[in-house]
Amino acid sequence: MTTRHAVISGASIAGLSAAFWLKRTGWQVTVLERAEEFRDGGQNVDVRGVAREVLARMGLTEAVRALNTTETGTVFVDAVGKVIAELPSDGPDGATAELEVLRGDLARAVLDHLPAGVEIHYGDLIAEVDERADAVAVTTAAGRVLRADLLVIAEGVRSTTRDRLFGDQVDRRELGIAMLFGTIPRTADDDDRWRWHTTTGGRQVHLRPDNRGTTRAMLAYAHADNLTNLDRVDLLARVRDHYAGAGWETSRVLDGFDTSPDVHLDHLTQIRMPTWRRGRVCLAGDAAWCVTPMGGGGASLALVAGYVLAATLSSAALSSAEPDTGLAAYEEWMRPLVKDVQQLPRGIERMAFPRTRFGLTTHNAVLRALTSPVLKPLMARFTQVAGSDRPLPPISTPLTSTPPTVDAADPSTVE
Ligand SMILES: Cc1cc2nc3c(=O)[nH]c(=O)nc-3n(C[C@H](O)[C@H](O)[C@H](O)COP(=O)(O)OP(=O)(O)OC[C@H]3O[C@@H](n4cnc5c(N)ncnc54)[C@H](O)[C@@H]3O)c2cc1C
Repeated sequence: MTTRHAVISGASIAGLSAAFWLKRTGWQVTVLERAEEFRDGGQNVDVRGVAREVLARMGLTEAVRALNTTETGTVFVDAVGKVIAELPSDGPDGATAELEVLRGDLARAVLDHLPAGVEIHYGDLIAEVDERADAVAVTTAAGRVLRADLLVIAEGVRSTTRDRLFGDQVDRRELGIAMLFGTIPRTADDDDRWRWHTTTGGRQVHLRPDNRGTTRAMLAYAHADNLTNLDRVDLLARVRDHYAGAGWETSRVLDGFDTSPDVHLDHLTQIRMPTWRRGRVCLAGDAAWCVTPMGGGGASLALVAGYVLAATLSSAALSSAEPDTGLAAYEEWMRPLVKDVQQLPRGIERMAFPRTRFGLTTHNAVLRALTSPVLKPLMARFTQVAGSDRPLPPISTPLTSTPPTVDAADPSTVE
């Protein structure tokens, strides 16, 4: 049988998981990544629900456990740092999950364990896609021409190839929340818990430990303006104004952001689409269904997507006669997991980001109630994402730990 060729655009968690599993199920795999090199960085993400099983099948559980951020729990603190409520962190899917890891570390773990033979081209991206019944031809900005049986778009929430191919089907839902992330020096008072301060004006301040001896800080707030076009100095000045009087460690975080190497702003946008596939093209991860940190589980869903895609394609021909079969099964398997996380409880944004003193008092009272022993099981459900009673779809081809040698004259690659 001719080796099937997949082109994957995006080398983060979704793209690398797809590369891992497609290669292991016998595909030739070419990954294109727009960045000039592997993108490290990012804050705390976690591996939850069925993603733990995928990680285990990759043989990476211990590698990821070793990269744990060292976080042991989650507490809500008031303006002077006094704990007002504690989230349940027991069990693998507690607020602090068993497998908490920095995004860059998780992506790097998959990258470092890719089966031999996955080709990754950094600093290149798709310029043109020609969709045909029997193949998809991809021309890149650097002039590569790749003929593939499958194109996987895993370019994250602001995917340009998705917009080009599926533009009118992309439903972007701005959640009205801005998040400013950065790494700041750790102080003696920082402990091993995620500390979360909410105050009036729809403002939150977060501090979390990492495995580098630094502290990951985040300012999250309900906002009106889009600040993405501001340069760093203006952005930080605007945020400093906005956080005046926010209390707790806010000044320290803002001072730290002035010199932080990795300050990054995100305006939370959910992506919803009626379909994640067409012919020989499919979407995976945030490009398809960005759930945002408000829903949680984006990294877990991205990891699962790579496995499910390869498994469903392993039992489908993806032939010219019926190119959709495997991709339909992929979408069918993933959709309930995504739907579960995207349906945010009504009013959650107003509750999580109280504007007024009265709103804050209500917020704190609800928090205390939800974290009380009686309601703790209900609260625990909020942190359970990517869970499923369904077994993962089986892989029905023998796994290749050493990938098949690709014939130099293989027509699936024209470079
Ligand atoms: C540097 C970085 C930091 C992050 N930090 C956090 C964080 O702190 N907290 C959090 O919850 N989530 C963070 N995320 C998002 C998180 O990784 C995703 O929500 C989730 O893991 C799903 O991953 P994904 O692979 O679908 O998308 P992403 O992780 O967004 O990866 C998309 C990849 O595609 C590449 N790409 C984009 N456009 C193109 C293109 N046209 N052609 C080729 N490649 C392209 C990007 O460079 C990136 O490597 C971060 C992502 C990145 C890339």
